[in-house]
Order: sequence, then structure tokens, then C-alpha cells
Amino acid sequence: MSNGFETLAIHAGQQPDPVTGAVVPPIYATSTYKQDGVGGLRSGYEYSRSGNPTRTALEECLAAIEGGTRGLAFASGLAAEDALLRAVCAPGDHVLIPGDAYGGTYRLFARVFSRWGLAYDPVPLNDIDAVRAAIRPETKVIWVETPTNPLLGIADIAALASVAHEAGALLVVDNTFASPYLQQPLGLGADIVVHSTTKYVGGHSDVVGGALIVRDSGLGEDLAYHQNAMGAVAGPFDAWLTLRGVKTLGVRMDRHCDNAERVVELLTAHPKVTKVLYPGLPDHPGHEVAAKQMKRFGGMVSFQVAGGEEEAVAICDRTEIFTLGESLGGVESLIEHPGRMTHASVAGSALEVPGDLVRLSVGIESVDDLLADLTRALG
Ligand SMILES: *Cc1c(COP(=O)(O)O)cnc(C)c1O
Repeated sequence: MSNGFETLAIHAGQQPDPVTGAVVPPIYATSTYKQDGVGGLRSGYEYSRSGNPTRTALEECLAAIEGGTRGLAFASGLAAEDALLRAVCAPGDHVLIPGDAYGGTYRLFARVFSRWGLAYDPVPLNDIDAVRAAIRPETKVIWVETPTNPLLGIADIAALASVAHEAGALLVVDNTFASPYLQQPLGLGADIVVHSTTKYVGGHSDVVGGALIVRDSGLGEDLAYHQNAMGAVAGPFDAWLTLRGVKTLGVRMDRHCDNAERVVELLTAHPKVTKVLYPGLPDHPGHEVAAKQMKRFGGMVSFQVAGGEEEAVAICDRTEIFTLGESLGGVESLIEHPGRMTHASVAGSALEVPGDLVRLSVGIESVDDLLADLTRALG
């Protein structure tokens, strides 16, 4: 299909039901399927861990909007990462991870897979020479996040894909922050895309889920085998909610970007703000790479304030429309203090974030209300 993004998001995997004509794929709340004689599967489905039509609709849609051939939906982003690592790595292998990896991903490597015998090294992904130097004969995966959380660092996906492939390794990109509307890593050479669909893909802060998308069908088979063998699949209701969110991903992302750009303008001009971190700013490290590989710059904005940690915390407490909370990517605006909330567990480590830092997930409310809320909270 050569249809555009929004057409795929609304139609891929979602043909009207052949029996009733229902336009929206139903929630197939069933664990098992009647067989027409022993071994005679009516529709290819036999048991809902192995496959469920609502989940298939989501999986086909996600594959289409990421430009892949196979999508797999999981119970959470971390469940997807777990299945991926067990499928492509073995004890004794080595993985390179971002120096500022998502905390849950870092914990998976540091506390879970290290006991399984998988070695890892955090590297600054924006430094290609450092990445090359960190590769070992056992390196199986280079794991990329771009933009990163919460400093919105940028990594060059195409350049890292070449480095990985020269070394015989796979390039995995966690595309959660950008979403497939803004960035399509498979087209830039990545082998596997990971999503926490909990965030922008679902988009309404009402469901936890994860996904893997690949181009290579053999790799897709192997991941599907592990999805079934390990069993952390997305349930039919979760798959349905996520698919409902996907339909509006394009229009939501455009509004997230519009609103974020206005918020960045306000923050940049505000006397209390000492630094604004946003990939769309010309002086942001990696801006040129972001401009090359992203359609727009996303809805996440971080900033630092005069007055240090206490003032940053006070601002988080003073907003009214920006709700104080973790997570991101929903229609509602969220504010948080990474040092004491999402990144509290990395205090004292190399991953520690500045105390005067505030992170915004800019939602799609009326932008004037968002600007007024921030102006009031900044004082
Ligand atoms: C939230 C998140 C995850 C983990 O996903 P869950 O759905 O919470 O398991 C992984 N990567 C990034 C970038 C995230 O923001």
C-alpha cells in the first residue's frame, strides 16, 4: 500500500468485519476458538496467547505506520523489551545502551539481564567514535533512544545503523518519544523499533502497552515465537484501546508540536528560565540531526530555572492545568521534577539529572490556557 500515514493509521489491519460489517474491529474477548475437526482451524486462531483478532488488527496497523512488515503487541513497553532481548541475545553477549537510557530500560539491563549473563555498557550515542570504540566482538545490539528523556538528546539513527551493521550487530530504536508520525527508524536503517504504546501511540493515558516492529520477516518470526513462548501479550481490550488511540496519532502529534513550540517560545523569553531543552531550537545539541530524521520536534520540553532545585519543585507544585505526574504522551499536559520523580533512582550515578530541571509533556489543550498556566506558575 502506498497510502499516507493517517490513512494507514485509520485503515491498516482494520477492514470492516466480514460477518456484520462493523467498521471498528470488535474486542474479541475469547481465550480459545472452535476447531472444525481436529487440527482444522477456521481462521488461523487457536488460542489467544498465540493470536487474537483484536491484537492482530493493532499489530498490522503498527507495522504499517512504522514502515515494517511485522508488528507485535505486548502487555507493556518493558515486556516488549524483555522478549526482544531474549530473542536476539544469549548469555555472554554484549549490548551498548544510551548513557541516559529510560530508567526502566536501564534497570532491565542492570538488574535483570546482567544476572542472565548479558553485559552492557552505557555510551554517549551522539559521539559515534565513542560508540565504535565501545563495540566488542560479542556486541549484539546497539540500543538507541532519540530524543532521550529528560534531556532530549539526539542520536543519528542512520549513522548508528551503519556502525551496528559493520560490527554485525542489530540496531534497536526505542521510538516512544518521537512516535512513528515524527520519525520512522526502520527507513533509516534500524532493525527493530520498540514502543511503549502507553505514551503517544495510545495517547490518552488510559492503557499500558508495548510493541516491537521489524522489516525482516525472519526476525519477525523469531520475535513472534518469543512473544508466544514468554506470553506477555497485549489483551484484547488493551489492544482495542490502543488502536483507538492510533487513529488520531497524526492530528494529535501535530497539535502536541504546535503547542510545544508556543511553550518553548514563552520559556525562552522568560527571565526566570535559564535554559530550554527542545530539539527544535537551533542551538540544541543535535538539532541538525533531529531536523534531518524527524518530521517535527515533538511534544516534550525540558527547562532549567533560576533558584535551583527548590524553585523547580515549587513550579511543579504551582501549575493547575499541567498536572503533576509521571508518564507522558497523553492528550493532557503533565509536569514533573525528574530529579525527585522519574529519575530519583539514578541520583548519585552518571545518569543523574540537574536539580533545577523541570520536564513538560505538552498536551493538546487550548494553548493560551497552557501559556497562562505556566506564566502563573513561573511567577
Ligand atoms: C515508558 C517508557 C518505556 C517503558 O514502557 P512501559 O509501557 O512503561 O513498560 C520504555 N521506553 C521509554 C522511552 C518510555 O518512555
